[in-house]
Amino acid sequence: MAELKGALIGCGFFAINQMHAWQDVEGASIVAICDRDPERLDIVGDQFGIERRYADAAAMFADGGFDFVDIATTVQSHRALVDMAASHKIPAICQKPFAKTLSDAKAMVAACAAAGVPLMVHENFRWQTPIQAVKTVLQSGVIGEPFWGRFSFRSGYDVFSGQPYLAEGERFIIEDLGIHTLDIARFILGDVSSLTARTKRVNPKIKGEDVATILLDHDNGATSIVDVSYASKLATEPFPETLIELDGTKGSIRLSQGYRLEVSGPDGVAVSDASPQLLSWASRPWHNIQESVLAIQQHWTDRLANGGETSTSGADNLKTLALVEAAYESAASRRPVDIGAML
Ligand code: NAD
Repeated sequence: MAELKGALIGCGFFAINQMHAWQDVEGASIVAICDRDPERLDIVGDQFGIERRYADAAAMFADGGFDFVDIATTVQSHRALVDMAASHKIPAICQKPFAKTLSDAKAMVAACAAAGVPLMVHENFRWQTPIQAVKTVLQSGVIGEPFWGRFSFRSGYDVFSGQPYLAEGERFIIEDLGIHTLDIARFILGDVSSLTARTKRVNPKIKGEDVATILLDHDNGATSIVDVSYASKLATEPFPETLIELDGTKGSIRLSQGYRLEVSGPDGVAVSDASPQLLSWASRPWHNIQESVLAIQQHWTDRLANGGETSTSGADNLKTLALVEAAYESAASRRPVDIGAML
């Protein structure tokens, strides 16, 4: 089959990773880029040798000549750009957070469904090598039925220098980072029926919350904790590792700092290294995330070429976005929130 042609909108901080990854993806490449900031457009166009450059997404869609669009802008523009893709019947990938509200997200999913085009959210954390390794061990049955889990991301890393907008929003860690951790909890232990959350702002220089502790009831009866912090000053900075603890009826799994994977089962304990690869264009400590960008973009390309729903389709991501909204609602009301009622 001929190589799929993509167009990317939003040539900012994170799009550099996406552009590098598109160069490595088998079966797709980027033929056009768009950014309303001419400086970013030139930097990315020159770095990746892309001739077709647009300041306006509508003009790019009008010219066409691509099979899918990769939307790498911040959340404010996601709804308009996904709707634009649907109206041109162009399959779309959209960065997280998928939408500002759950009702916007539902409308975006409906628009793409009505147009008959695939829609995937670039929810890449579940594609990290260590997270996939935990899922594989769990599926092997060695720890039996999981009844408890903890998904933890605690760091003191300065994310604000690369992404200054993170310091400015009313909402911060749940919407930006916790969204990934909640998605991992769903990926590992399944969908969630109810949630309770508490939040805190420790860093006085930012507007939103930088600490959150969330209790989840999963449909399978398991209980888990998602705890995230950008205010944790640790001896060895773990950014950007997600640490996982799972207890099952026959054993346990511990993914600890340094990508150490310990599995305890009826036949004993096995310790392995679940480190991500350092891709040629990647740099530490981001390499874990960078590798997952390549994995999710390859997954999209394979599904677009061969059919089938993506792991993090728009419809799937509604269930993650509901957890984000529920976490803010629960932190404000200090009450548990019923997730089923939101979907
Ligand atoms: P950024 O502000 O650096 O880049 C966004 C770019 O989009 C800017 O260059 C801006 O000019 C452009 N843009 C915005 N609206 C536009 C429009 N309507 N048309 C054309 N261009 C437009 O932001 P970033 O840090 O790169 O983040 C982008 C998205 O990626 C965010 O939603 C963020 O949450 C997400 N992100 C994801 C991960 C991950 O691991 N999945 C990591 C970091 C950031």
